[in-house]
Amino acid sequence: MPYRAPLSDYQFLLDHVVGFDQIAATETFAEASADVVSAILTEAGKMCEEVMAPLQRPGDLEHPRLENGVLRTAPGFAEGWKAISEGGWIGMSGDPDYGGMGLPMTVTSAVNEMMSAACLSLQLAPLMSQGQIEALEHHASDGLKELYLPKLMSGEWSGTMNLTEPQAGSDVGALTSKAEPNGDGTYAVTGQKIYISWGDNDFTENVCHLVLARLPDGMPGTKGISLFLVPKYIPDETGNPGVANDLKVVSLEHKMGLHGSPTCVMQYDGAKGWLVGREHGGMAAMFTMMNNARLGVGGQGVGVAEGAYQHALAYALERKQGKTPSGTIIDHADVRRMLMDMRADTFAARAILLANAAAIDMAQATGDADWAARAALLTPIGKAFGTQTGMRVAETGVQVHGGMGFIEETGAAQYYRDVRVTAIYEGTNGIQAMDLVGRKMMDGGEAASRLLDEIEGQAEQARATLPELAGPVWEATESLRETTEWLVAQGDMNTRFAGATAYLNAFARVLGGHYHLSAALADPDGPRAKLARYYINALLPEHASLLAQAQKEVNDLFALSIEEMAV
Ligand SMILES: Cc1cc2nc3c(=O)[nH]c(=O)nc-3n(C[C@H](O)[C@H](O)[C@H](O)COP(=O)(O)OP(=O)(O)OC[C@H]3O[C@@H](n4cnc5c(N)ncnc54)[C@H](O)[C@@H]3O)c2cc1C
Repeated sequence: MPYRAPLSDYQFLLDHVVGFDQIAATETFAEASADVVSAILTEAGKMCEEVMAPLQRPGDLEHPRLENGVLRTAPGFAEGWKAISEGGWIGMSGDPDYGGMGLPMTVTSAVNEMMSAACLSLQLAPLMSQGQIEALEHHASDGLKELYLPKLMSGEWSGTMNLTEPQAGSDVGALTSKAEPNGDGTYAVTGQKIYISWGDNDFTENVCHLVLARLPDGMPGTKGISLFLVPKYIPDETGNPGVANDLKVVSLEHKMGLHGSPTCVMQYDGAKGWLVGREHGGMAAMFTMMNNARLGVGGQGVGVAEGAYQHALAYALERKQGKTPSGTIIDHADVRRMLMDMRADTFAARAILLANAAAIDMAQATGDADWAARAALLTPIGKAFGTQTGMRVAETGVQVHGGMGFIEETGAAQYYRDVRVTAIYEGTNGIQAMDLVGRKMMDGGEAASRLLDEIEGQAEQARATLPELAGPVWEATESLRETTEWLVAQGDMNTRFAGATAYLNAFARVLGGHYHLSAALADPDGPRAKLARYYINALLPEHASLLAQAQKEVNDLFALSIEEMAV
């Protein structure tokens, strides 16, 4: 079943929900007029439908292989990468001085989401390059920028991120990779990195690795880590790939899904690298890449949700079972429930991510600290809720298909298998929740409170026209405010962490209510209002139980001894 890019949803969200007009009104993004954005989304949608979507199934069936140290990618992926590169979709938000388009992240997020829906395995490759581009733009020397950025943006070269080691997963500070100064301004990087997405390929001239490693005088923990750019081929004096660097792909992981994406174990043996950012400042530099990737990974979840929904809807429209007005299962109430849950949550998650991207754009364009704080607050929510929505919707998609959902040919199972990792990589969803209640509440909950004020303000105004929708949104927001105040008052971080996941999900539920209400206000007699009514009546009430869980008694979690847990 072919993928159809949801262009009208993006257009509606940009026009009526996330306030794209204020982004386009800034000097920085003055060229992102409504016409330009609409043309870009249409063009990207076409590429996703015609080039990337047909690669989804072959990428699942014919995995990348390592043949005598040479990585062979899945059939058609080289052509897919070429189409992505030639369309300019890698450097969309890149600096125009280095060949990028300088477009807002809001637009890039929509395009990335479409690419994820079409073929998640392949989309992970440009996503890694985009993160690297942003990290280099912010932290690399001018020389590195001039040499690497144009090639990364054009897709001639590709980028990866190397944090994880066998003993250093969520605890990045435990890494043991080393970097020694060579005495000529370069460094010798040694160590093993695992799970490296797109650690190699057979379609770009060079593969550029951003590697976290410790200098000899680097203290233990995250504060002693530095970041290095380590290319597969060392550029010669003309800037072209020269001699091979001392690094290799040792093996490829065998995974539950995302088969088209090679997940590599990388070995660095004194490989030549260049420092990015300052010595021991690696985490700050890497965070630029990780925040970009967190937004992108949240969008991967939403993209998969969209693809899974389209498949499930098509199946429900043709499967005949039982007596219904249309003759197909779409008229059974329980099937409708599944499809409405899928659609309403996909809209909510998409709106949260686009609002997150919009806050990033406004922070960049205005330099306003409040916008930066808004973006920082929304990032863990967008990443975790976006990926969770992807998982839940894909799982429901399998259910809509009945037995055929368990049979690979329909594609429903692939969405479910592929999306599962999105809740794990780029900081597990548990780590996102801890970030939300920890670092993102270090301001005493101020950024959260400002956002809740806005939500309540809109709900107050909406009472005049849509009281039955505005009331529940206002009340849910007030409950979230009370729990936020309770949370901020907890000095014991373990108490906050115990309820962090529930709190994040409750926050996402309320945000979803807010954006659905915005949609209903813009389209009071149309399908958006009907979908909003469903979300607010059927899904928003979940916030109450989540908020109760957020204030759970931490001692209950640790009440059973380890011995008691084993029985
Ligand atoms: C397909 C795939 C692609 C990947 N791509 C890349 C890549 O390109 N580059 C890269 O560097 N890495 C990559 N990763 C690695 C990924 O980012 C890590 O798997 C992830 O960060 C989790 O680390 P871990 O697997 O060691 O799990 P662990 O850190 O061992 O976590 C196990 C469980 O414990 C929880 N946990 C751990 N610490 C805490 C804590 N302090 N508080 C509460 N809970 C905690 C986690 O949430 C999780 O549920 C990839 C992984 C996969 C599977």
